[in-house]
Amino acid sequence: MIKASNLHRSYQIGKKRVEVLHGIELSIEKGERVFLCGPSGAGKSTLLYTLAGLERPQQGSVSIAGTDLYALNPKRQAAFRNINIGYIFQNYLLLPELTALENVMVPGAIGGRDSEKQAKEALERVGLSERADHLPAELSGGEQQRVAIARAVVNRPAVLFADEPTGNLDSRNSGEVMKLLLGLAGESGTTLVVVTHDPSLANSGDRQLIIKDGSINPALVTEVSQRC
Ligand code: ADP
Ligand code: MG
Repeated sequence: MIKASNLHRSYQIGKKRVEVLHGIELSIEKGERVFLCGPSGAGKSTLLYTLAGLERPQQGSVSIAGTDLYALNPKRQAAFRNINIGYIFQNYLLLPELTALENVMVPGAIGGRDSEKQAKEALERVGLSERADHLPAELSGGEQQRVAIARAVVNRPAVLFADEPTGNLDSRNSGEVMKLLLGLAGESGTTLVVVTHDPSLANSGDRQLIIKDGSINPALVTEVSQRC
């Protein structure tokens, strides 16, 4: 479902060049639920952005469901992402002036569709029907993240990415949000890639990928057995 080949990404900071992705090779099967772990600054967010089509690598390619993401022109790529990819951020990134329901309708609106019915269903799936008319400021952190999850799954994407989705939540809410993500993905056969620091949460998927030492090297991406 997700194939990355020879991904390279570096940043120039002053005179220093920081190599973040060093020729990453990655293959994730349809329906697999993968946790991506590693210390702060290791390149987890950079890799997730790159896999989701949000940041073009300097070299290499990413294919999602057989489509080469970076070979598409920007308009087609945006349309492809809108239908096939859901993305969840640590700080939710809800639009503050829109209600929960309206936030969940945003992907539909971007795609030119009226998605009120699907948005209501998505809010129901995350257990927030009662909060449909609330603004983000009127919701707890855990509830805001569940709205963001509803927004990410409203189009029933084939692939769902989540970058430290529980990073701002206490342990009870973290457990609930992670259970919700795994459940939603499991139900619909969605491929899920989640970044987390938390070893107690990272054991609940099908596989863990570890990124180390501030950069990524195929030799350092260890499959299974290693704890986050
Ligand atoms: P992680 O998510 O694992 O904490 P990131 O992917 O955010 O790591 O960052 C990896 C490295 O790339 C860090 O050293 C960070 O400082 C650097 N980096 C990330 N984004 C930028 C940017 N836009 N400009 C310069 N350096 C960046
Ligand atoms: Mg990060």
